[in-house]
Amino acid sequence: MAQLPVGNLINGQWDPGEGLERLDVMSPLDGSVLSTVPLSTAAELDRAVEAAAAAFVDWSARTIRDRSQVVYRYRDLLERHTDELAELVHLENGKTLAEGRAEVAKAIEVTEFACSLPQMVAGEVLEVSPGVECRVDRCPLGVVASITPFNFPCMVPHWTIPIAITLGNSFILKPSEQVPLTARLTGDLLARAGLPDGVFGMVNGDRGIVEAICDHPGIAAVSFVGSTPVARSVYARAAASGKRALGMGGAKNHLVVLPDADVELTAENVTESATGCAGQRCMAAASLVAVGDVDHIVQRVCEKAGEVVVGQNLGAVISAEARDRIVGCIDEAEAAGARVLVDGRGATVDGCEGGYYVGATVLDDVTPEMAIAQQEVFGPVLAVIRASDMDEALDIERRSPFGNAAAIYTRDGGTAREFASRATSGMIGVNIGVPVPREPFGFGGWNDSRFGVGNITGEESVAFWTQSRKVTSRWPGE
Ligand code: NAD
Repeated sequence: MAQLPVGNLINGQWDPGEGLERLDVMSPLDGSVLSTVPLSTAAELDRAVEAAAAAFVDWSARTIRDRSQVVYRYRDLLERHTDELAELVHLENGKTLAEGRAEVAKAIEVTEFACSLPQMVAGEVLEVSPGVECRVDRCPLGVVASITPFNFPCMVPHWTIPIAITLGNSFILKPSEQVPLTARLTGDLLARAGLPDGVFGMVNGDRGIVEAICDHPGIAAVSFVGSTPVARSVYARAAASGKRALGMGGAKNHLVVLPDADVELTAENVTESATGCAGQRCMAAASLVAVGDVDHIVQRVCEKAGEVVVGQNLGAVISAEARDRIVGCIDEAEAAGARVLVDGRGATVDGCEGGYYVGATVLDDVTPEMAIAQQEVFGPVLAVIRASDMDEALDIERRSPFGNAAAIYTRDGGTAREFASRATSGMIGVNIGVPVPREPFGFGGWNDSRFGVGNITGEESVAFWTQSRKVTSRWPGE
């Protein structure tokens, strides 16, 4: 396949980034080189911010209805280009084509939410004393930026792009250097939808350009999605330079299974949660907390995990380093006393020998103290931790420093309700292992899974990407 060029999008033009150091973009499917990505410097960022600031003047002065028309057209382009986007996601991220299509569908859903913003931000007005009224306007912030991870090359950038631009901001995306190709097509489609030059820009690179974004005085707000240590440091650095900041971090999600749970539903759902997107989801099942005697369910989970076929319904992991790290986590857990019930180590796919694969893996007898129970593995690995009752299960969940998602499997409404009110995670599932809130409900975890205030999508994202202006008016009577 011919290499796909990746450059920076500055003022509506793709700048190839000549003279910049570059990294290879590898396909996890077979290890082939798809492209190279420039490691941009502060000079490229300066030019992107300057163009975005110039474009902001006209873009922010338009009515929100006018801006949303562009986003409507963009939504239709996303739909028409679903196959192309899904194919790029598949190639550069390694997930299956079906998973690629699913993430494009989610990107469309958030874009549709953005199209509804004119209704949502219709202002508040109140007569505060006789003849005096107070009105609240939602005003854009200026030039804003998003830094995104490798695991959802299409969906995660769409958590922010359509919402922030519909609200009148100019936007700079720094995609993961591991998956810049889907983002490149995003830039082309936005231009085809009629977005004026400069309103959307893209700068590529790694840590250096992220730090430049955090420090840049021309950027008003930064959202970040990625691992917890980087989320924490980006949040702190951006806030220290006076920016509004939101950092979504990593996760360790606990799925609590009770003896009365529906066996088939639970086994199917837990397995899908642990192995979907090769476990590279911040909402993936990491630990199955088995309460009491649920051996019949654990056994069915193992059978289901055994039916997952690498290269068919289980894609690749992002890199050789990720594969080796995941296998290392399994080795370490086994050495610490965990029993390997289903072993995905050494997985290969015929014809894709250079690819990076780990098969579905289930470990039993994991204790909360083991590293595998505490650290984010980010692979198709499920650790079964035994608990004698709900209190102990909740204690395990609550002691995790993360707080993205937690789920319970039971037929008992009262137990489910109690779990939902006592677990310390931002997104709770009841008989649902990937409890992603659909729009208009916002996506956001707690504790070390989120730094800053609010959700990254939904109603709270409107507050993040705008500031309120309060206008108090009195007009003398006749
Ligand atoms: P990552 O933290 O390595 O990288 C994310 C982004 O930060 C990339 O654009 C990368 O270029 C940049 N970056 C990497 N190291 C940096 C550094 N030291 N300083 C500044 N910038 C740096 O994350 P990843 O491996 O791309 O993605 C996987 C992680 O993202 C997992 O931990 C996953 O749980 C998390 N994630 C969280 C959510 C959420 O909403 N909470 C959603 C998706 C992914």
